[in-house]
Amino acid sequence: MTRVMNFSAGPAALPLQALERARDELLDFDGSGMSVMEQSHRGKAYEAVHNEAKALLAELTGLSSDYEILFLQGGASMQFAQLPMNMLNAGQSADYVVNGVWGEKAIGEAKVVASMYGAKTRVAGTTAEGEGKAVTYRRVPLEGELSLDEAAAYVHVTSNETIHGVQFAVAPDAPFPSFGGAPLVCDMSSDFLWRKVDLSGFAFVYAGAQKNIGPSGLCVCIARKDFIAKGRKDIPKIFRYDVAAENNSLFNTPPTFSIYLMRNVLLWAKEQGGLDTLEKSNRAKANTLYGVIDELASFYSCPVDRASRSVMNVVFRMPTEALEDAFVAEAKKAGMSGLKGHRSVGGIRVSTYNAVSLASVETLAGFMREFAKRRA
Ligand SMILES: *Cc1c(COP(=O)(O)O)cnc(C)c1O
Repeated sequence: MTRVMNFSAGPAALPLQALERARDELLDFDGSGMSVMEQSHRGKAYEAVHNEAKALLAELTGLSSDYEILFLQGGASMQFAQLPMNMLNAGQSADYVVNGVWGEKAIGEAKVVASMYGAKTRVAGTTAEGEGKAVTYRRVPLEGELSLDEAAAYVHVTSNETIHGVQFAVAPDAPFPSFGGAPLVCDMSSDFLWRKVDLSGFAFVYAGAQKNIGPSGLCVCIARKDFIAKGRKDIPKIFRYDVAAENNSLFNTPPTFSIYLMRNVLLWAKEQGGLDTLEKSNRAKANTLYGVIDELASFYSCPVDRASRSVMNVVFRMPTEALEDAFVAEAKKAGMSGLKGHRSVGGIRVSTYNAVSLASVETLAGFMREFAKRRA
């Protein structure tokens, strides 16, 4: 068996150690004579996994007891709707900072909920360039470009725009920016746990697991208790954050296998040395790739402003689409997959999430040099 070097944007590479453990325990979990998938979600064996996953998340992020960790379903996209369902009231408005397609989708869903509720959404700042189908994003907004509503129910930002490769606070030691006085909500799907971020500035953080921390379908939420306590009580219980919190995310059957696999990934992250070690590795990977792009700037070009260049999704173009297609095809033959840019923007995208090794990235960087030499 050979495992490919997987640079896919999501579902993405998982640490081999986490998968091997799942394989070894698949038929007989913890001496129970059945897999973890076949256990009752109310039984002791599963409960231990569930609570260990929460404890590892709290430990890795340095989370305070002001926060509750929720395991929800429906991916990050469901949060686009569930957030306003819980946190918007009639007459209120919610602010959205838009620096990519995920932010557009988030406000799009919130608009639907707001119109049902007699509430509003507002774009507090956008870095969209161009018109219609050609709209693109090259950077995060500057503080002076935002018009924030201090009375907003919340302000929503996307910390890393996966499709465009545009990320907030990428410089070493750069704190996550603040966005005025309204409760700050962040979609961290594609850069959750890439490094230590002070979560105390956020009211609510959510992340689809399939980029950095586990399999798809599962969405991890970090909720400030006093924020979700104010959530609406007139929506179905299955959507209520406070109900999920009161029930330890066991209001109904959670995606037990996904949570189990995430537990394995989190344990791997801890054994690597935690988020500081992962940050070093992630920066080394990104620097390696941007280094080649800048060095061979007549052949490779990164459309993203330097200060917003994502550490997780490195996007670049080549002189022609035919060259890009050849690059993807030849890389695939050399054991590197998942390099095609998102269908809406084209080009090449290299996703270098936590589980992607520096060795794989160095192999790709070598291939980029060789390809440019041959085809330029
Ligand atoms: C992938 C992604 C999503 C969507 O995740 P789903 O789990 O497919 O709903 C949302 N936001 C960001 C930033 C993403 O990268």
